[in-house]
Amino acid sequence: MVFILSLLFLAYGLQKSKISLEKQFESIKSGTFDFSVVSASSIAKTLNGYIMSLPKENRASTYQEIALKLPDEVKKEMLFLLKISDEKKPSDLLCDRNEMYSMPEEFLRALSLIQQRMPFNLAKPVNNCLLIQYATSDNEMVEAEGLFVFEPGSSTKDKLTIFVSPRYKNQSDLLTAFLLSHETKHAWSYAIKQLKVSGGDMVSKISTSEDCYLDEAEAFTNQLLFISSLNEGEKETLFAIVQSPSSYLLNNQETQSLKNFLVTVGETTSKCNGDGVQVLVCAKNSFLDVVKSSSYYQKQCER
Ligand SMILES: [Zn+2]
Repeated sequence: MVFILSLLFLAYGLQKSKISLEKQFESIKSGTFDFSVVSASSIAKTLNGYIMSLPKENRASTYQEIALKLPDEVKKEMLFLLKISDEKKPSDLLCDRNEMYSMPEEFLRALSLIQQRMPFNLAKPVNNCLLIQYATSDNEMVEAEGLFVFEPGSSTKDKLTIFVSPRYKNQSDLLTAFLLSHETKHAWSYAIKQLKVSGGDMVSKISTSEDCYLDEAEAFTNQLLFISSLNEGEKETLFAIVQSPSSYLLNNQETQSLKNFLVTVGETTSKCNGDGVQVLVCAKNSFLDVVKSSSYYQKQCER
């Protein structure tokens, strides 16, 4: 049960990190924060989460307080995030729809759970543009549980198409939400990329295999964040699913994918420590190693 223990440990670390957002802000303000240990985008996301949690009228001044202390790279990322997090703007910039697409109720419930539990669900501004459907059959799924369709035409700014294997019609909302916390992260990254390209950022237009691996690693990290933010009963349910004798006997792909995820998390992140952000960055790097060495993802990313 090593993997469960380390996952709980990680969940504990992440819960603590919610409290330490303020501490991180303070250490940046006082100039004692060591920027070399975390990436610009992680620190920008953390700060953005902190600033967006403040009352609207305090946000600008809070940003001013630290802007001088931030390296340019972080400042650039942050300004971008703040621009899209501003309550008036995300819909205009990322998704022009005012309501959600109609889709099976279980997907709406799963999205609602993700929304309710995750501390900073970055995918929120694109929620109205997510179109989630069951694939007609598993043949369309290329061995995957869920698929976000990147192809131009299938996904656009206002229609981010996700297919879920019809096997999930027999699964609990919790397992579906676990899957969607992965796919919606892909949808979000795609939306951001489109936004950057439309804003003239031509570097974002080129997709390298490295971007592809990174996107996967981030999607897995989002799943980890999702599981970590569940309440105790929900966590227990997920663990019960993988341990149940009937799921062992049936050995279905859905349960298996959760189990593989938990084992991978246990094996790779047991070496991660530090505060919440450091653990997350370390987890992301571990996922990156895993996807890079997986023949399945090599096939997907090296083309
Ligand atoms: Zn993926």
